[in-house]
Amino acid sequence: MTLQSSLQKKSSLILTVPVNEPLLTDQEKKYLIECIDTGWISSEGPFIAQFEDACAQQAYQKHGIAVVNGSVALEIAVRALGIGVDDEVIMPTFTIISCAAAIIRAGATPVLVDCDADTWNMSVDQIEQKITPRTKAIMVVHLYGLPVDIDPILQLAKKYQLKIIEDAAEAQGQTYKGKPCGSFGDVACLSFYPNKFVTTGEGGMVLTCNEVVAERCRSLRNLCFKSGRRFVHDELGHNYRMTNVQAALGVAQMERLDKHIAKKRMIGDYYTTQLRKIDHLQFPLEQTSYAFNNYWVYPLVVKPSSPYSVDVLVQRLTERGIGTRPFFWNMHEQPVFARMGLFRNERYPVAENAARNGFYIPSGLGISHEQMEYVVRAIKDIFY
Ligand SMILES: *Cc1c(COP(=O)(O)O)cnc(C)c1O
Repeated sequence: MTLQSSLQKKSSLILTVPVNEPLLTDQEKKYLIECIDTGWISSEGPFIAQFEDACAQQAYQKHGIAVVNGSVALEIAVRALGIGVDDEVIMPTFTIISCAAAIIRAGATPVLVDCDADTWNMSVDQIEQKITPRTKAIMVVHLYGLPVDIDPILQLAKKYQLKIIEDAAEAQGQTYKGKPCGSFGDVACLSFYPNKFVTTGEGGMVLTCNEVVAERCRSLRNLCFKSGRRFVHDELGHNYRMTNVQAALGVAQMERLDKHIAKKRMIGDYYTTQLRKIDHLQFPLEQTSYAFNNYWVYPLVVKPSSPYSVDVLVQRLTERGIGTRPFFWNMHEQPVFARMGLFRNERYPVAENAARNGFYIPSGLGISHEQMEYVVRAIKDIFY
């Protein structure tokens, strides 16, 4: 049901504004119908390669390996680099669990750094002190709309001969100093969940220029079938194959990537212009020296001066039909990892503050101007 029809049905005075609504058009419909008309609905079919090539090309990479979601893209990316038992990978504590899970599932150990207070991206200046003889890679995760300051990380990677795993799930189409996010990693990963810049419902992709790594990823996604005798396996793989139906959505979405970014920037600029006078909130940076914010989400952090806690704010917005999401919960504070004996007594104060006081407001590509006005009015009403 579209927003309009749901509103008409309810004919209520309260607008509902979901935290994310994707934008789907007739182009997606056309390609989906093509799948049905031709019968190509499995993981074979022409849209897969087309989608893989479009994503790889956009990120200056040679190979795209489409999989069922971004989490498993990270998983096979780590494995394809040969990272395993006794290896360490440096990553931010403030991120989604998929990043740490990929490292742990490969048998390796995640090693954490804090995040920066103004971008919530990993603190680049804490990385070098975490490098040990066991460190094999740095997982760079671009968060919430601004890329990680990646040049110093590339220098470290060169100095210590480390691989870069770039999680560009929130940064497809974003650039760092004019170069696309997803182009910096030995492997880069994308997600096509409905709140990402390009969606296939569920979906993900590994990008790489390395032929051997690409072949490993293709094998891991396809049960590690050998090229010789079918159904004979040297290694355990997975069935992580994306379908042609999903890729059809992706091809249509890729055609509009620039427009999606323009719309997100419009949303972000509107919120900042309308809300920035509220002293009790920390707003996302509009730009840094290396990038313009593309507002993957519109994050806000409640300052200590605020008369309302984040819980009260979120509650008041919920009462008005406005969806929100809390910030990520840090890896070093995850009960599941505590049980595994990981990150004991580690503290990352900046990330702890962000996780406790941050949330984001509706900014899906399908949002209307009326809905944004409604969100702004609600927040102003609460504070004034
Ligand atoms: C969404 C996301 C993922 C996981 O992608 P799924 O497709 O949801 O599995 C990984 N990393 C980051 C930074 C993400 O935002």
